[in-house]
Amino acid sequence: MSGGTATQWDVLVVGAGPAGATAAALLAMAGRRVLVLEKDEFPRFHIGESLLPAGLPVLERLGVPTPADTFVYKSGAEFVCEASGRRGVFVFRESLPGCARHAWHVERSRFDRTLRDRALALGAEIRHGETVVDAGASAEQAWLKTRHGTFTGRYLIDASGQSRLLARRHGTAEPYHRFGNSSVFTHYEGLGDAAVAELDPQHNNIRIMLRPEGWGWIIPLPGRRLSVGMVSGGKMTAEQLEQGLLAGPMVQRLTQGARRLETRVVGNFSYKNTAPSGPRFTAIGDAACFLDPVFSSGVTLALRGAEAVADRLVPALADGTEAAPDLLQQHDAGMERAYRTFAALIDRFYHSNFAERMFLGDTSDQPMRRGVMSVLAGDVWRTGNPFQDMLLAARRNEHHLRAGATPRRQHDAN
Ligand SMILES: Cc1cc2nc3c(=O)[nH]c(=O)nc-3n(C[C@H](O)[C@H](O)[C@H](O)COP(=O)(O)OP(=O)(O)OC[C@H]3O[C@@H](n4cnc5c(N)ncnc54)[C@H](O)[C@@H]3O)c2cc1C
Repeated sequence: MSGGTATQWDVLVVGAGPAGATAAALLAMAGRRVLVLEKDEFPRFHIGESLLPAGLPVLERLGVPTPADTFVYKSGAEFVCEASGRRGVFVFRESLPGCARHAWHVERSRFDRTLRDRALALGAEIRHGETVVDAGASAEQAWLKTRHGTFTGRYLIDASGQSRLLARRHGTAEPYHRFGNSSVFTHYEGLGDAAVAELDPQHNNIRIMLRPEGWGWIIPLPGRRLSVGMVSGGKMTAEQLEQGLLAGPMVQRLTQGARRLETRVVGNFSYKNTAPSGPRFTAIGDAACFLDPVFSSGVTLALRGAEAVADRLVPALADGTEAAPDLLQQHDAGMERAYRTFAALIDRFYHSNFAERMFLGDTSDQPMRRGVMSVLAGDVWRTGNPFQDMLLAARRNEHHLRAGATPRRQHDAN
């Protein structure tokens, strides 16, 4: 069976996660014929539950509802070192002006389905159970293949997440060796009243637990559920989670009487696609870059990247210039700025005493603190943030980020 002709589809999208669904929704909203092929049936489990304020305008633009069974209000992040008892709270309302003052934690299976449903409602065609086995683009057309045949269109968007279809095909995925590369996590349901009170329903900050082997997260989810996980440079196991974060006093307290669910391990995840776009194709979301999730940047970068691509593609499709090799040059530079900002912060998190000093120490330097908060909010395309300028200027080169020591967070002697 042939999936269509070059004139039938304007845009072919691989994957209906946050990146693919957002791009498809915005393109369909602009009247474009979009075909999304997604290998899984929805709802399906996905990790990545804590969003940043910078992603909220995209959700508002798409008209995504925020019901309480999917979204939990998040006011900021709390950094905790159980070994020393030190902690530091950073809330988004402290950030520089111009960005939303809060974010959300989401139940990803519902969140992803909601985004998918918006894309469908806006007119995108989405086919589930369709695994794309190969995809590419020539000067004349974009194409992709499934077991049902070949589909053609005017433009190809790779939103395949960590499958990173095009990066694999082109051999352009470069790992970040110095970042976390493996994670083990689990969920709890049926949290007690004391746990809900401790998590503070008015704020629901993500807890980022600073640990010698890396870091851990504690994220409150809708319906008295909790997400708990650890990230490290080495391959992680369920035993490490049990003997590490789960054995600590905070998780013990919060999960008393709660039921533990499945434990999952994911690995091999910090990398960058060094050639994310070209004539008639681009990669967005995790297919373009995945950074260690310590600062919860993934979904927000996926939403913002997808939006920027759709906004550039709509006029190009209208005037027939979508094959221009430099179509996304400016967009790629913008995303590069975002990746470099987070990469520089993550590198410091693992390889200096920065985390202890900044997140657990004396952060009475208000302008710097506001700048830190803006980066933590994902507001990384703005100007006038001295902290971000410092990160970008002082950041060591790409080679330095890609090679070198396995991350084990350095600790301040104090
Ligand atoms: C341990 C961990 C913790 C994280 N925590 C956070 C967090 O707190 N906050 C945050 O923002 N992000 C977090 N992330 C990152 C976040 O999960 C991703 O950045 C986000 O899901 C990216 O969205 P996406 O649409 O690019 O990819 P995905 O959500 O992965 O969607 C890709 C879709 O493509 C489909 N697909 C793949 N290959 C094919 C194919 N060949 N054919 C058809 N369909 C295909 C998949 O089934 C999937 O539905 C975390 C990630 C990890 C690993």
